Amino acid sequence: MPKTLFVEVLLDQNLARPLDYSVPEEWAHLTQTGMRVEVPLRTGVVQGTISKLKDHSQWPQVKAIVRLISSHSELSDSLWKLAQWMSRYYCAPLQRVIKLFIPPNVRRQTKEKGELFFKLTRTHAESLALCEALRKKAPAQAEVLEEILQTPKGVYATSLKAPRSAAAALVKKGILSSEKVLAGDDLLLEEEFFPTKPKKLNAEQEACLSGICSSMEKNQFAVHLIQGITGSGKTEIYLQAIQEALNQNKSAILLVPEISLTSQTIERFRSRFSQKIAILHHRRSLGERSTAWGMLKDKQAMIAVGARSAIFCPAQNLGLIIVDEEHDSSYKQHEETPCYQARDVAIMRGHLEGCPVILGSATPSIESRYNCEIGKYRLHRLTARATSATLPQLTIVDMKRALEQTGGFSHFSPQLLDAMKLRIEKGEQTLLFLNRRGFHRMQVCKGCNHILKCPHCDLALTFHKQADHLRCHLCDFIREIGRECPECQGNATLEFKGFGTEHVERSLHAVFPEVRTLRMDRDTTQQKNSHEDLFKQFRAHKADVLIGTQMIAKGFHFPSVTLVGILNADATLTIPDFRAPEQLFQLITQVAGRSGRSELPGEVILQTFLPEHPTLHLAASQDYEAFFSSQIQERREFGYPPFCHLIKLLFSSTAPQEALSAAEKAHAHILKEGLPPGAHLLPVSPAGHPKIKDSYRFQFVIKCFKVSELHASLGGVEAPRGVSMNIDVDPVSTFF
Ligand code: ADP
Ligand code: ZN
Repeated sequence: MPKTLFVEVLLDQNLARPLDYSVPEEWAHLTQTGMRVEVPLRTGVVQGTISKLKDHSQWPQVKAIVRLISSHSELSDSLWKLAQWMSRYYCAPLQRVIKLFIPPNVRRQTKEKGELFFKLTRTHAESLALCEALRKKAPAQAEVLEEILQTPKGVYATSLKAPRSAAAALVKKGILSSEKVLAGDDLLLEEEFFPTKPKKLNAEQEACLSGICSSMEKNQFAVHLIQGITGSGKTEIYLQAIQEALNQNKSAILLVPEISLTSQTIERFRSRFSQKIAILHHRRSLGERSTAWGMLKDKQAMIAVGARSAIFCPAQNLGLIIVDEEHDSSYKQHEETPCYQARDVAIMRGHLEGCPVILGSATPSIESRYNCEIGKYRLHRLTARATSATLPQLTIVDMKRALEQTGGFSHFSPQLLDAMKLRIEKGEQTLLFLNRRGFHRMQVCKGCNHILKCPHCDLALTFHKQADHLRCHLCDFIREIGRECPECQGNATLEFKGFGTEHVERSLHAVFPEVRTLRMDRDTTQQKNSHEDLFKQFRAHKADVLIGTQMIAKGFHFPSVTLVGILNADATLTIPDFRAPEQLFQLITQVAGRSGRSELPGEVILQTFLPEHPTLHLAASQDYEAFFSSQIQERREFGYPPFCHLIKLLFSSTAPQEALSAAEKAHAHILKEGLPPGAHLLPVSPAGHPKIKDSYRFQFVIKCFKVSELHASLGGVEAPRGVSMNIDVDPVSTFF
């Protein structure tokens, strides 16, 4: 290695630029970019990452590095290039990007000796009895027991919600055992798996797999889009493609939306491969995360499965990247720098590492599908369900007419009621979908029309009946229910309007007194694993009907669901956003995919006040091709992606005037720098949520053909003290 005299170091604290340091003679041959080092700063010794090697420095007096933390670079060449690309493309400081690639524990090189893990020493019944006995005398200890009783394998000290001191007391008494385990060894998932064998692929699957394998053999970058409805056998292709990567001694990364990273998904992968799988998601502790990172680096694990940030993992000799549900909006990081889109980062990583990338979806994003049309990606369509399961039948119900029939308001049209009744009688299950939680949507004064809003956000407060209060869905501010209007002081003039899942659940019990229901929304899934517990209960047929928000649309497979009711199918169509129709189409397809996945045929009822809306019709007939053509035409006409790129700049501050003036200054700066040909600068306006947590938000959008043509002028945009700025390249929404 050549001798290095100086290096640029990106400090972990967020300085705008890297600093120069000199390299002591003894390390002159050891330094590499991506290496972690300790360097002096005025405030003391700090840590950072080497970003550049050089043989001179323009500064006359540079200090020397004090310590090399790692003996090698933390980032491979291609990951380093990927980070640099992200920093440029997403207009984000490189050290913010690097943080995604080197998680905190790896950064600090903490010697992870393992985490404390608690287990019961007695039987379940004995522990339960002890728990009851301790309830009065030592409530904290009872709480610990209660928690561990719910996770029979035991619990990590770091994920324990009850006080750790109480757990220690139980260890002393011999009621619990504690051991140090290497985090990430997956004690919690150590269940027995029935090994599964590869299925014999049908012709469409076979053609798709062989295309992917041929890219892989040649170490060739190519993007393969698999378009196939739920149950058409996409996952089976992923499994066999991963097997092929392993056969070639290569590793594979599979990205799934955070919400789909359930034990059911993981189980499917674990039961196929005998190898270790590194599972990566943000709910894992820092220790678990760095262990998984280490396993991949040492090639102990050749398969990584995780949510969006798993795309930064150090999988070695990468042979394949898969992005499942590629259209899912959770792949995009918003409002935090860098605002990256993990699917696009995956494609860039595939390009840099020379490996194929698979995108899979029932409803590909308009952008990805368009890339197939223009020959950038290869399209593979799976047109039939792999098993004998039939497609669900979708029906649109006009709610205006339904309400005339019922002679008053009801959540349920007569059609939906009949269909539910039939399922309850037959012992089959129903899903009811509504994208709003709570009981009533808002409280309004009859006298003066005042809407009770959050004092910190520009949003109406939602009434939660079980908790018996009004709550803000943006900041969780709580207000007690009063009788008097705070605006006009009218007495008993406040009335409730609009409905959420809580109300639906209660109304359902009024119609069917015997019905057993479960509700799944953000209110019922606050605790770790509660999301999964609810799913398990429903699968075990502990309820006839599952009522929920977006959360119920993904991740799980319910064999005995034969009916899906979408209560307000048009809710999102009124949002002024170019992606609203696409998101609705995707949602309906996804929710519909929950029904009739086994031998029992499924039925989907879409209730709407806009029965003529074209998007609903296309969704009801599940005609993706027609939907795609109509969207592409609209986007071309109005100049939206994929026919241009969007860049959204958001300025927020507790002082509204300052946020607005910063936005206007930035706007003027970009105009002054001159826009590249074909680019448009849209005016400054309040954001879709104009105020969140006391912060006022203003934004503007740039439309352009090439993001790179704007990098120079965006680089000159600054926000004054007290105003925070967020640059979002390729935002999901131009509204929120
Ligand atoms: P998707 O990922 O598109 O939802 P899956 O891969 O999960 O579809 O396939 C749905 C079901 O069909 C699974 O139970 C899977 O094991 C089965 N399956 C997939 N491909 C085949 C095949 N070629 N032969 C038989 N069964 C298959
Ligand atoms: Zn609020």
